[in-house]
Amino acid sequence: MEKPVILDGNRVATHVKDGLKATIVKLKENHVQPCLATILVGDDPSSATYVKMKGNACEKLGIESKRIHLPEQTTTEQLLAVIQQLNNDENVHGILLQHPVPNQIDERKAFEAIAVEKDVDGVTSWGYGQTALGFGQYPSCTPAAIIKIMDEYGISAEGKHAVVVGRSPILGKPVSALLLNRNATVTTCHSFTANLPELVKQADIVVAAVGKPNFIKGEWLKEGAVVLDAGYNKGNIGDVEYDTCFNKASAITPVPGGVGPVTISMLLKHTVESAEKKLLETVQKERELVSQ
Ligand code: NAP
Repeated sequence: MEKPVILDGNRVATHVKDGLKATIVKLKENHVQPCLATILVGDDPSSATYVKMKGNACEKLGIESKRIHLPEQTTTEQLLAVIQQLNNDENVHGILLQHPVPNQIDERKAFEAIAVEKDVDGVTSWGYGQTALGFGQYPSCTPAAIIKIMDEYGISAEGKHAVVVGRSPILGKPVSALLLNRNATVTTCHSFTANLPELVKQADIVVAAVGKPNFIKGEWLKEGAVVLDAGYNKGNIGDVEYDTCFNKASAITPVPGGVGPVTISMLLKHTVESAEKKLLETVQKERELVSQ
């Protein structure tokens, strides 16, 4: 068995970010400063790290990062008021509410409050619905990253059996929809799924989105399967048992350096696209005014 291709997320992310540079310059020439607002509620250290990484990645590329940090005791109403302000702020092009929020907050209600045109992480039901129907502007960033990695490495989903382990609204469900739209036959698994290893054994493509370290074992895989590990657990450990899966896979994402960096690059891409769309709308309105 040949060694698998290691799907290098850092390389893909660099490619995505390089592809945004000219658009950012063009936006600035037109006096538009692309801006992503991130909202962190509470002091969960992992969430704080994720938000910091996203903000830093923005600034490094010339995207403004508006970082809002709310106290642990924030109520749903207080959070909704902040989201509303950002929705109304002409200078903000994307809003990211870091998941998870403290228990007292109705997270779904907060996600739904994000204006759909600024929903750069596909968390609203509109965003999700559009993704599922195949015309979404901004699919959730981790599912978008998984598809981007496949595209960059020329891995087609068409006619393949994809087994997605996990069905969360931000990851398992939208990545299943994206793969289905790419003409894969998709099996979406969850904590009630019976005979999980047998299902994984049938997969040409395995997406791990479980949130459990080293959960998917090499012995579950079909020889030559493509393994995409979205998992990110304490100690930089994925949801896939890397060493045993490495021996069976034809291609595999490492953790770290796989899906994670591409996820951030997709967030930047969606923010820049949202700013570009705003500029085009403004230009269109100005033209209409002139022609009146
Ligand atoms: P989540 O909301 O906790 O969802 C986990 C999913 O796994 C659920 O659908 C759950 O099933 C399923 N599951 C749990 N135990 C299972 C079992 N024994 N067998 C089969 N399925 C099982 O997690 P998430 O937010 O989707 O995140 C998943 C992983 O991705 C985490 O490691 C997270 O850190 C990582 N992540 C990475 C990025 C990135 O940028 N790389 C971004 C987001 C998330 P039920 O629905 O039945 O409960």
